[in-house]
Amino acid sequence: MSYLALYRKYRPATFDEMVGQRAVITALQNQVKYGQVGHAYLFCGTRGTGKTSTAKVFARAVNCLHPVDGNPCNECELCKEAESSFHLVEIDAASNNGVENIRDLREEVQYTPSKGRYKVYIIDEVHMLTQSAFNALLKTLEEPPAHVIFILATTEPHKVLPTILSRCQRYDFKRITVQEITEHLMQVCGKEGIRAEDAALHYIAALADGGMRDALSILDQCHAYYIDEEITLAKVRDVLGAVDSRIFTEMTEALAQEDAAVLLTLIQQVFAEGRDALQFLNTWSGYLRNVLVSQVLKEQAAGLIETDTDQMQRIQKQASELSADQLTWYIESLAKLEAKLKTASEKRIILEVGLLGLLRRRPVGEPERPRQEASYSKRERLPQEQSRRQEPVPAVPVSRPPEKKGPSENAAKGSAEQQAVIQRWPEIRKKISTQWQSLYTLNLMRLEAGAASDELVLRAGKAIYCQQLEMKGGEKLSLIEDQIEEATGSRYRVRVISDEKPRATGGDLSDIKNQIHTDVNWRNE
Ligand SMILES: [Zn+2]
Repeated sequence: MSYLALYRKYRPATFDEMVGQRAVITALQNQVKYGQVGHAYLFCGTRGTGKTSTAKVFARAVNCLHPVDGNPCNECELCKEAESSFHLVEIDAASNNGVENIRDLREEVQYTPSKGRYKVYIIDEVHMLTQSAFNALLKTLEEPPAHVIFILATTEPHKVLPTILSRCQRYDFKRITVQEITEHLMQVCGKEGIRAEDAALHYIAALADGGMRDALSILDQCHAYYIDEEITLAKVRDVLGAVDSRIFTEMTEALAQEDAAVLLTLIQQVFAEGRDALQFLNTWSGYLRNVLVSQVLKEQAAGLIETDTDQMQRIQKQASELSADQLTWYIESLAKLEAKLKTASEKRIILEVGLLGLLRRRPVGEPERPRQEASYSKRERLPQEQSRRQEPVPAVPVSRPPEKKGPSENAAKGSAEQQAVIQRWPEIRKKISTQWQSLYTLNLMRLEAGAASDELVLRAGKAIYCQQLEMKGGEKLSLIEDQIEEATGSRYRVRVISDEKPRATGGDLSDIKNQIHTDVNWRNE
C-alpha cells in the first residue's frame, strides 16, 4: 500500500509551516538563526501537538547548509539526508526503556558524524525510561559531546527526574486551538481536492482535542469512507459517533461470559473498521456508565442517558444481568487500560492482552465469587441468545455449508442472471454499507457466482471478514440476501469464502494466540 496518511503527508517541512506553538517555534528558530543551539531539550505536551514534527524540523535546521531565516532549506544535501540514521536517531523509550539501550546510546554518541555539525537524538516518551536508564542518560547529559543534540519528548513531564529536567531547555507545547486546526484542515482539503463543509471540519477539529495528528487521521477516515463525496457534518458523525453501539453490548457480554473467542473477534472487527482504539475504549466506558446509571436509578435514569430506544433496551437488559461490582470494576479497568494505550505503540496488542486479563480476574473485594453464581449465567439467557451461543464463532472460517472450495469454483462463471447481480453489486453493496456501518467490510470482499444457480459467493482475502458476516447465526448474511432480492427481484443464497489458509484449530490457548496479531504496528509517529 503506497497510500500516505494525511498526517504524514502534511507533516510540516519548516518552522513557518508549523500550526500553532508560536512561542516555542520562534524561540527555536532564533536559536538556529543566531547559532545558539543547546545540547538538551525537553518538549512537553499532549499527543499530536507537534513535538516530534518540531524536533524533526529542528534537526534539519541545525545542519542545513543554507538555512533561510532559521528554517531548513530542504534542498541541500544535508536537509535531504537529515532523516538518515547518520544525522537523526529516534528512540521510543516506551519500548527501549532499559539501561542497556541507554548504554548503547552513550557509546554511540562518542562518534562524530561524518557530515554535518550535529547528530540529533530524539527520545520519545522519555518518562518511560527505567530509573537506571535515566541515570545512564543523565551521565550523557552532564557532559554531552559537542556534536550531539538531545531532544527528549514527553506527555508526562512530572515523571521525568528533576536532575534531567534541570539539564534541559524546556518547551511546553500547548493544545492547538480548534480554529487553528480547522484552518489547517481547510488547507489540506484544498490541496487534496477533498470537498468538505466548514461545519464538518470544525467538528473534526473540536473532536481532535488539540491534536493535529488526530484531526488529520479523522479527516482521513471520513475521506476513505466517503471517497468522491462531500464530507458533511452528518457524515462525520456517522463515521465517528455512530459506531454501531451494539458492539459495546456484545463486548460487555463477552467479558461477562469470559468468552475470549468472541472478545478477540470483536476487537478484530474494531480494528478492521479502522476505529481508533482509544476512542473506542472511551465510548465503551460511556456505555458501561450508562448501564450502571440505569441499574442504580431504574426508571429515573432516562433523563441521564442520551441514547436511542433500541440502545436503551439493551442497556436496561444488561443492567439487570450484571452486578454493580462487576460494572464498576469494568469501568475502572477500562480507564486503566485507556491510560496504558495512550503511550503504547502496539495499541492492539495492549488492548487484547488487557481485555483477556479481565477474563481471568475477579473484581477486587469479591475474590471467591464462583463463576456459576455470576448473574450472567447461562440459565438466565433468553432462547434467542442461547441459539447464538450454540453457534460459536469459528476460529477457522468455514463457509456455510462447508463443502468443497477448489479452483473450480474460482472459475465458475455462473448464469446470466448471476452475472447480472454481480454487475449491479457495487451499487447494492454501497447501499448496504452506508445503511449498516458494521457491514463496511463488504467493500473488501468480491461477489462471485456460486456453484448452484441460486447461490452467490462473497470472497475475502482475510478470514475475519467472513467470520464477521457469519456471526450471530448469519443474521448479516440474511440482510445481504434481502438487499440483493430487493434490488434484483430474485432471492439468492449468499455464502462466504476466505482465501486465507486455515489455521490449526483447537479452541484452547494456542487458538487465542493465533488470533492475537502481532504484525500490526500502531506506532504513533
Ligand atoms: Zn538545507
